[in-house]
Amino acid sequence: MAMTRHDWTKEEILKIYNQPFMDLLYAAASVHREHHDPNTVQVSTLLSIKTGGCSEDCGYCPQAARYHTNVEGNDLMSVNQVKAQALRAKEAGSSRVCMGAAWRNVKDGQEFDDVLEMVRTINRLGMEVCCTLGMITENQAKRLAEAGLYAYNHNLDSSEEYYKEVISTRGYQDRLDTIENVRKTAVTVCSGGIIGMGESAEDRAGMLVALSTLNPQPESVPINALVAVEGTPMEEQEPISIWEMVRMIATTRIVMPETQVRLSAGRTQMSREGQATCFFAGANSIFAGDKLLTTPNPDVNEDMEMFKLLGLQPQKPFVKKAQPETVDAQNSQYQALGEKPRWTRPGHVIERNLAAQYKKEPKV
Ligand code: SF4
Repeated sequence: MAMTRHDWTKEEILKIYNQPFMDLLYAAASVHREHHDPNTVQVSTLLSIKTGGCSEDCGYCPQAARYHTNVEGNDLMSVNQVKAQALRAKEAGSSRVCMGAAWRNVKDGQEFDDVLEMVRTINRLGMEVCCTLGMITENQAKRLAEAGLYAYNHNLDSSEEYYKEVISTRGYQDRLDTIENVRKTAVTVCSGGIIGMGESAEDRAGMLVALSTLNPQPESVPINALVAVEGTPMEEQEPISIWEMVRMIATTRIVMPETQVRLSAGRTQMSREGQATCFFAGANSIFAGDKLLTTPNPDVNEDMEMFKLLGLQPQKPFVKKAQPETVDAQNSQYQALGEKPRWTRPGHVIERNLAAQYKKEPKV
């Protein structure tokens, strides 16, 4: 059985990534079968609980306030709205709800208290709860854990080198620091990235080095294909080919044998044959629902038809780790500390981000 290693080098990973396609597929499928049931795929529902208006400048993101996209901003959803959506997701076969808020970082206060209540509510429905809320402190991670959070998502996006070409408002180390804060709790880590942003194969390998050398490795690694949205700095980026996606999935599976590899954004541009190849290469998780935060995603019924066609079963919740307990707000042993951590603001210039920010909106 393939051992989990934490000392992968970029050269080794590139060699795996660039080997003949059939050899790569065979190697990845073999590792996958040693560690996972190849006919089971986890189905998660991603819910945008607070959309748009974000102060960051991530070059791929239509939710950044500074770009001129068609995303309509929304305030934080109510606990009842989230509960209703979670129940619908459960009925449709999802075992996990991932709540995303377009924040740079979490601030203590009423909104975070509401998110904690959402976590308690969904955990009590018997579903895995994941949050992606931006950068968090150790105390905030502990409060989320106490509410019953199962996973926290914080993507590295790309290699440390290419990250500087994508985002200028925070540093790579900030990302790693948040992951480390999550690791101080029992909450599992979900962290991956995006391919197709103009990065090289070396950058893809660099990101996998950063993720695989974490000890423990993230329990979940989403691999997204860029969905180029009009108005963002990456609007003209050509879609990546399915072959690159399969190579990335397969390489991720080989270097992180235990992790749940998530075939994430970009599935609408993939055929069923393409997605089936990704599952064969080691992907064992998808997002369900017709929207992925703000970008299109296949309809749940389409996915269930594909599952039937391929003989795949949705994974039950809490298979990998027991359900966390939920502590009520009044019994919490943690208080809001109102910390103001010094997350970095590198502030270097990324030409295409600036161009998108100052681009004149077309006259109607
Ligand atoms: S990816 Fe997240 S942090 Fe970056 S602009 Fe979008 S919502 Fe903000």
